[in-house]
Amino acid sequence: MYQKGRAWIELNIGHLIHNIRQFRALLPRDCALMPAVKANAYGHGATLVSKALQGQGIQNFCVASAAEGIELRRAGITGEILVLAYTHPAQFGDLIAYDLTQTVVDAAYARELEQDGRQFTVHVGIDTGMHRLGERWDNVEEIVKIFQTPNLKVTGIYSHLCVPDGTGPKAREYTLEQIHHFEYAAEELRRRGFCGFKCHLQGSYGILNYSELCFDYARAGIALYGILSGKSDRVNAAVELKPVLSLKTRVESVKMLYQGESAGYGLAYHAGRDCKIAVLSIGYADGVPRSLSNRGQVLCNGKIAPVIGRICMDQMLVDVSGAGDVKAGDEAVLIGKSGDLEIRAEDMAQWAGTISNEILSRMGERLERVAVN
Ligand SMILES: *Cc1c(COP(=O)(O)O)cnc(C)c1O
Repeated sequence: MYQKGRAWIELNIGHLIHNIRQFRALLPRDCALMPAVKANAYGHGATLVSKALQGQGIQNFCVASAAEGIELRRAGITGEILVLAYTHPAQFGDLIAYDLTQTVVDAAYARELEQDGRQFTVHVGIDTGMHRLGERWDNVEEIVKIFQTPNLKVTGIYSHLCVPDGTGPKAREYTLEQIHHFEYAAEELRRRGFCGFKCHLQGSYGILNYSELCFDYARAGIALYGILSGKSDRVNAAVELKPVLSLKTRVESVKMLYQGESAGYGLAYHAGRDCKIAVLSIGYADGVPRSLSNRGQVLCNGKIAPVIGRICMDQMLVDVSGAGDVKAGDEAVLIGKSGDLEIRAEDMAQWAGTISNEILSRMGERLERVAVN
């Protein structure tokens, strides 16, 4: 039985389903969602999330590694699982054994797959301007060679946008160029008689800011989990997204810190007045950024409790002087709602000087994950 012992994640599956419906309403009818469930589904728990997605009719998933794909297959996930990055030749057997679709990261990689001698199902990455993975969009002859490689069954091509979140004219211009480059490569392939391959380009911001595009799949990640990367981000689409994840922990101990005393490693917090502090059973090993030391906030009893001192590996200290009758065993909320207040992943990301994608994908393995609603 689930114990909610020391620190845990609550998943609101109802919100996940709501977000799926929002995306489906936004996307063209023929465009299927291909959720990004890499990095343990952005920390939410890959198996729980993927099963819920499959329950909503999702048949395409993307992951970052063969190992992540294997985890999904072992959990009974069917349909297509696309590995978005490099797989080492020593693991090529896994691609076949677990029916994973591999990304061809460039022309040289296609030759490596070919040398293996077995047959692989692949999507060809097209570099349209991010200069990360993919064969260059204008190396049409190389892309054609990949399609002609006997042991590669090419079922799709895809690219990735690098400034779809940008709202200024430069970002928009660059994105439109990337879109044109992608369409050029697809058209050149069709002109040479290749057909039947699927095309996909958009991640969350590509969907939310360029929803008029019409490709076969849309690789929704962060926004499917109900949040944006940055707190001040604005998007064109009128969607209402609901956060799926809450991060909670327990108060282990409550004590006084008297004026003039210091607390924690490095004596990093100095009490200017008497205060009541609570020790929480969560730390940076669970994914709470250490940069929240003396900076972040949590919620106790529907009130704000500021972080004091350095975040430890397994614990952290908060000032609960203004949070009423807090006692050992109480819940504290790091991400989510308590009473009328809410801390969102975007808030924690802002305090930590990063994006919510990083905050979520680093949620620790020790956290129990439990579906609610
Ligand atoms: C992670 C990833 C996505 C999902 O991105 P979000 O911005 O989280 O929606 C899509 N495509 C590729 C290639 C990715 O690596």
